[in-house]
Amino acid sequence: MHSLWNDAAAREFIGALGPRVYTSRLLGRDKTLVLHGGGNTSVKLCEPDLSGLQEDILYVKGSGWDLETIEARGFSPCRMQRLLEIAQLPALSDTHMANELRQSMKLSSAPAPSVEAILHALLPHKYVDHTHADAIIAITNTPNGAQRIAEIFGDRLVIIPYVMPGFKLARAVAEIFHRSAKSSAIGLILLNHGIFSFGDDARTSYERMIALVSEAEAYLERHNAFHIEYPLAETENRLVSQEIAEFRRALLDVAGQPMVVVIHQDRQSLGFARHPDVSLLASQGPLTPDHVIRTKRLPLIGRDLDAYRLAYTAYFRAHTMAGTESLTMLDPAPRVVVDKDWGLLTAGRTAVEVVIVEEIYRHTIEGILRATALGGYKALPANSIFEVEYWDLEQAKLRGQGTPPPFAGEIALVTGAASGIGRACAEALLTRGAAVVGVDINPAVEKAFSSVSWLGIQRDLGDEGNVRSIVEMTIRHFGGLDMLILNAGIFPPSTPISSLALTDWSRVMRINLDANLILMRDAYPFLKLAPRSGRAVIVGSKNVRAPGPGASAYSASKAALTQLARVAALEWGRDGIRINVVHPNAVFDTGLWTNDVVAKRAAHYGLSEAEYRKNNVLGTEITSRDVGEMVATLCSPIFSRTTGAQIPIDGGNDRVI
Ligand code: ZN
Repeated sequence: MHSLWNDAAAREFIGALGPRVYTSRLLGRDKTLVLHGGGNTSVKLCEPDLSGLQEDILYVKGSGWDLETIEARGFSPCRMQRLLEIAQLPALSDTHMANELRQSMKLSSAPAPSVEAILHALLPHKYVDHTHADAIIAITNTPNGAQRIAEIFGDRLVIIPYVMPGFKLARAVAEIFHRSAKSSAIGLILLNHGIFSFGDDARTSYERMIALVSEAEAYLERHNAFHIEYPLAETENRLVSQEIAEFRRALLDVAGQPMVVVIHQDRQSLGFARHPDVSLLASQGPLTPDHVIRTKRLPLIGRDLDAYRLAYTAYFRAHTMAGTESLTMLDPAPRVVVDKDWGLLTAGRTAVEVVIVEEIYRHTIEGILRATALGGYKALPANSIFEVEYWDLEQAKLRGQGTPPPFAGEIALVTGAASGIGRACAEALLTRGAAVVGVDINPAVEKAFSSVSWLGIQRDLGDEGNVRSIVEMTIRHFGGLDMLILNAGIFPPSTPISSLALTDWSRVMRINLDANLILMRDAYPFLKLAPRSGRAVIVGSKNVRAPGPGASAYSASKAALTQLARVAALEWGRDGIRINVVHPNAVFDTGLWTNDVVAKRAAHYGLSEAEYRKNNVLGTEITSRDVGEMVATLCSPIFSRTTGAQIPIDGGNDRVI
């Protein structure tokens, strides 16, 4: 590990908080130091208040900010005097502490201060940096971790036994630190939790952190416990999509909500899942208690969800019996599955959550194997983990998140998603919390949205082989398929039947009809497993009911597709799958309509362009967004009792009405 300090870059960060923001970001950039929202930093500054009196202010990381991207306004300005007064109290509940921390701020609109604010205030150094460094935790999570830490760092680091973050930890640190700290102390270690470094300037505090963690890494290296070798994994070339989707369906009954499930079959995932001692290694507990919020205390080893649910319920009961307050059990569904055939499976309510779970668990695997190489992995006892999992502050945070978006945990597949109606459908579904796979012949589809809930796949739907892999990729990426939106289609140049070539006709049929048949056929077994019932929406056309001359292939393909959907509605109803058709017309903000084409068509009808755009019964313009919103609404419970319907979205067309 090396210092990332750069003088030129540091100079870009101006103002009193500049150096604090800069080195906080440097820490955040290294995932072996902090993961997602973990770690915190502070600086003590002396500033005039409104009446010109100088006061000491602790700027500490505000909750909701990540070190990697923190800005000056991400630090909460707390009055030191108040923090030190609070620290004198013999006891304080964490809820009261959180309230006091908020009230100590000199700016009411600043974010809530980190729960470790009092601890930062008590340390007599201007700059304080705190991380959950992988190498440190691997060493402390062994049977004689404290001894090893003392051996490596001597009296440069004060060792604090594990205490849950919050008021008690601040008190414990204050007592131990002031009793035992030598002047040579440059930081402290919280066993099973992390490390603090101090300094009189930002660079010193940061570079001490880097130097201390580097020493821990070197120690692991000397004991052949740093670089973990994973055996070359033999992945069977077996399709697991059906198994994964069935597992996801079963997960609903345990979680009470649909989940995104991602399979990982890389060397690390399979290597760990096939480790001869995996049952023992994976059943000890997390590296540090704050991971429990994301990953649960333990992964599911194997596939027995019922056993996992029972074990979780027993763990909950065992730790609540003594408690006086009535706690509500969180959902007893695993977020990590370790299976020798699957490798690693990560699950969460949203694709974002799954990415976080995966990252944390990869670090967990590494930490467990390093500690094992050092002499044995030893996690905190279950009651310490429970304490954090059901901590009132964490519970309040969860409650504060409100109701999840309507399609949270659900997965949609949209064709023709790079632009126009398809893109609008994808956007409407993403906005409602779904994970979305978009397919298009245009490579722009890959970057159409920059969200981990998005997977863009470039494919020409004119080729059966290309189409066949799409559903499989969807399942591998998100674990299932709940909503199928068939929108892709081509609109060939106007040609009368008398001169229509069979090859042109066939190409239109291949893309507008055959590709959709293949996708419907491939998607069916997965739509059947959808936790909240499968839905399909077909984007048809006004031409189905009111065709125009010169568009025979297009109109016939959309009419056949509509008929295909009606038959599917009859066949799939028994499985709870709904399939409905929308018939848009005159949606001019799509790839099919260039300004030139609009001008020509308007002239053809003797209308101005503006008149032509609103040439319908309601005299209104129809946009891609309108269609996207309708398609998403058709997938919502509002239409849970509708299937086989055809709904125009055309402003009212006198030939259709
Ligand atoms: Zn911490």
